[in-house]
Amino acid sequence: MTTGGRQLTSILDAPGAPPDCDLFGLWNEELSERLSDFGLLKYRIRQLETALYRQKVSDIRQVTTWPKELREQVAAAGFRVGLPEIVETFRSVDGTERYLIAGQDGQTVETVWMPEGDGGDNGDFQGSGDQDAGDEDGAYDSDAVVSKKNRTRATICVSSQIGCAVHCQFCLTAKLGIIRNLTAGEIAGQVAAVLKKHEAEPGRDRINLVFMGMGEPFLNYDAFMAAVRLLAGPMEIPESRMTVSTSGIVPGILRFAQEKVRPKLAISLNAPNDAVREAIMPVTRKWSIAEVIDAVRQVPLRQRERVTFEYVLLGGVNDRPEHADEVVKLVRRAQFPAKVNLIAWNPGPGVPFTMPDAGDVARFQARLREQRVPAFVRRPRGRDIYAACGQLKKTGSGR
Ligand code: SF4
Repeated sequence: MTTGGRQLTSILDAPGAPPDCDLFGLWNEELSERLSDFGLLKYRIRQLETALYRQKVSDIRQVTTWPKELREQVAAAGFRVGLPEIVETFRSVDGTERYLIAGQDGQTVETVWMPEGDGGDNGDFQGSGDQDAGDEDGAYDSDAVVSKKNRTRATICVSSQIGCAVHCQFCLTAKLGIIRNLTAGEIAGQVAAVLKKHEAEPGRDRINLVFMGMGEPFLNYDAFMAAVRLLAGPMEIPESRMTVSTSGIVPGILRFAQEKVRPKLAISLNAPNDAVREAIMPVTRKWSIAEVIDAVRQVPLRQRERVTFEYVLLGGVNDRPEHADEVVKLVRRAQFPAKVNLIAWNPGPGVPFTMPDAGDVARFQARLREQRVPAFVRRPRGRDIYAACGQLKKTGSGR
């Protein structure tokens, strides 16, 4: 079984991150254990958590609730905060920002800030005028960066791996191959670094997270879910504001179905049937669409929760009316509450597809809606800075 010439089994064991003394990413017992030599009482651990995850300090010496001597001792023992650092920022005309964020080993990963939402699960949709364009608490309030309640409203697109091994043919990230997995601290750290830059606070501001950046989260499952627990725990971002997208890694979906705390689920479908999907997503040879849908059926959905099918429209490949009809059948057969997010493919150098015609996108959406399948067109964000879906490739200004 290969994905574009690679052994598919090899994508399951991407290299891990190098061991280090970073404290960011640990909490509760993990922190106590890591710092056991110092015999810290529980309240000292709580003070450290507040410094790490609320104040987002970048140096142990900034944990001012600790006595100076303790800070010096912990720092002298080689421990460091380990909050990833934004090393380069690219700003789009639409306000979207793409960052290169560096870990301790100097490897960079990409993270995207979309000031008024991602136009996806709960966000703003192209001319939809649809009720679903509001977020789940009904508080959707126009394209303002800061709402009338003076709350920042933004979506952060987070990466889970450096590069990706899934090899979707339409995706620029795939061209990197897999470089390594990110740790839980590096995944949650992207969020902390971006929140810190924008002085945004999850308790006050409306921050959504989408795990749709570089990498396949379910091929770095343990670190990804540890990051989710950290984000939903001490970083106080409700799980209902998080969405994870998978290319359809069945064992990952089955594990996900058992989780007590979990984001909402999106399946990167992108094709009306296995034949088309195999051509653009070789992972389909390992797990068919039917097998993916069977696995998703095991996920106990919360009240009003729907599974999202992400569908990247590629000109002439998967955007025909008959393809829309097949998608309708597929969603009906799934027998769980679902909706379809349509994304016009974002071009990238060396990726052999064409953008769909705007009329075809509108017709595709209309065809789904006529047959009572909720379908939304996601507004492309940050195309001019290569920040849009499928465009992340760990690069600087040049491509
Ligand atoms: S679309 Fe997602 S899963 Fe597919 S290659 Fe790109 S990053 Fe990986």
